[in-house]
Amino acid sequence: SAEFLWTMEATLATVMARGGVTAYEVAETTTGDKLVGLAYAHPLADKVPYQATVTGEWVHRVVSSSTVEAEHTGLVHSAPGHGPEDFELGQTLGLPVFSPVDGRGHFTNEAGVYADKPVKEADAVIIEDLRAANALFAAETLVHAYGHCWRCKTPILYRATVQWFLRVAPIKAKMVDEVRRVAWYPEWAGAARQMDWTQNLRDWCLSRQRYWGIPLPIWRCTKCGHWIVVGSSDALRKAQGYADGMDLHRPGIDRVVLPCPRCREEMRRVPDILDVWWDSGVASWASLGYPARDDEFRRWWPEDWIVEGPDQTRGWFNSQLAAGVVAFDRAPYDSVLMHGWVNGPDGRQMHKSLGNVIEPETVVRKFGVDALRFYMLSVNALWDDKTFQEDGVRNANRTLNILWNVLRFATTYMVLDRFDPTTPDFASISGHLRPEDRWLLSRLEGLKMTVNAEFATYSLHRAFRSVESFILDDLSRWYVKLVRGRTWTEAEDRDKLAAYHVLFETLRTVAVLLAPVTPFIAEAVYQRLDGKKLSVHLLDWPSAQEERLQPDLERSMSIVQ
Ligand SMILES: [Zn+2]
Ligand SMILES: [Zn+2]
Repeated sequence: SAEFLWTMEATLATVMARGGVTAYEVAETTTGDKLVGLAYAHPLADKVPYQATVTGEWVHRVVSSSTVEAEHTGLVHSAPGHGPEDFELGQTLGLPVFSPVDGRGHFTNEAGVYADKPVKEADAVIIEDLRAANALFAAETLVHAYGHCWRCKTPILYRATVQWFLRVAPIKAKMVDEVRRVAWYPEWAGAARQMDWTQNLRDWCLSRQRYWGIPLPIWRCTKCGHWIVVGSSDALRKAQGYADGMDLHRPGIDRVVLPCPRCREEMRRVPDILDVWWDSGVASWASLGYPARDDEFRRWWPEDWIVEGPDQTRGWFNSQLAAGVVAFDRAPYDSVLMHGWVNGPDGRQMHKSLGNVIEPETVVRKFGVDALRFYMLSVNALWDDKTFQEDGVRNANRTLNILWNVLRFATTYMVLDRFDPTTPDFASISGHLRPEDRWLLSRLEGLKMTVNAEFATYSLHRAFRSVESFILDDLSRWYVKLVRGRTWTEAEDRDKLAAYHVLFETLRTVAVLLAPVTPFIAEAVYQRLDGKKLSVHLLDWPSAQEERLQPDLERSMSIVQ
């Protein structure tokens, strides 16, 4: 007796071979779209009563899907209750979401004869039932990727459950506008990455079936199903089970019962908690106590600037954007810096198994924390990944040592001569400045301008490389050499005092410029020079005095050099 099978033409021979069929002929050839709508009898309808009774236009019919790969027979079975693609397809076709599996991974009573069996243990029974129903063409084991619990490595399975979502469609256009409004560093973090993510954003599943977290503030009537969102604890004040000052988390909150405004029956809280990313999304105002109070909120909100890594495009950058647009019709931040990753010396992610892990503490013990920070911020742009090289930290350490040597040179003679920068003050010795003095002051003003301009775009690497080359080339290798002889003369020499003033002002300014990146050496330099303030970090940030810029003198000096 002949049997008829539908299979994909391209794989006909291999499919037949795998089914153990040697003699066959092609009875009919058609295109896949012609099969759409073809009905089939469910092979296990007598085992699973649901399959015998379920109705719907597309139930037990062939449908078309772009998510099915053109391999094997080209035909797969679809389970809208057990996977996102099948679920989506089922939604468009009106297929019921059948998911007869409980939270333990056991079949429920809806699964008929398979009820109570762990899903994977039922596989063998189902295969035998299919064989007995003469509905099995071939059975074999395929090796493929499969989802596992990241903690305990248990195989997991998709199961359709009831969840609460943030509907993104009504806020997406505003979110896109806000991505455009916010200043991103680098620019592509917003224009490319965040924009791409936001434009493709799907509804956000906000509910979690966990214990610790912010309780979902939704109460639902146990009788008529009416539900309300509770906006504040005030709305619970008269509820049964509520007490002033109570902990609003689980388990106490689950005992708070409201009367249903429709049918007067009990309303109970939906037992879910919120996705922790929602907590992160509201952090900018929740941390200021808003809306319970608004004084701090009015003072500090919105955030001028936030900084995080590229993993936060879908994380914190996104959660704040969505929550901000929902609550305030705007992103809660005005600018974002997205930093890169630090990789091992081999350029790969640091992993214990690769043996390329470098603990910051080890480097700090060897070179000090200032050298490590100076290296990290000057080696490349903040948003580029770093391939960590210890030599770079060694060089940074050397630069800071050279600064220290310049300080020692300057202060040794200043102390011997009891130099006081206020008597005589800078104005009264300015007539005694030599060209090299005016040159260094001009370079110093240029350095301030460069650093400030680079800071404005978070190009810290260029800012601190400028500081580094100023210390090495202008200050140590050139100016100190030129003025060495002037420091050996007698005490009240104005020419010498001019050099002291220039060294004093230069080192003090460099200390301030370095304070954000190398706070310890900056403090030590400042305290040995002046120390009038408690800390270098209490000084004003330097702005350039453009009248001191002498481009002609700088040009002449570069010829001399
Ligand atoms: Zn697990
Ligand atoms: Zn009700």
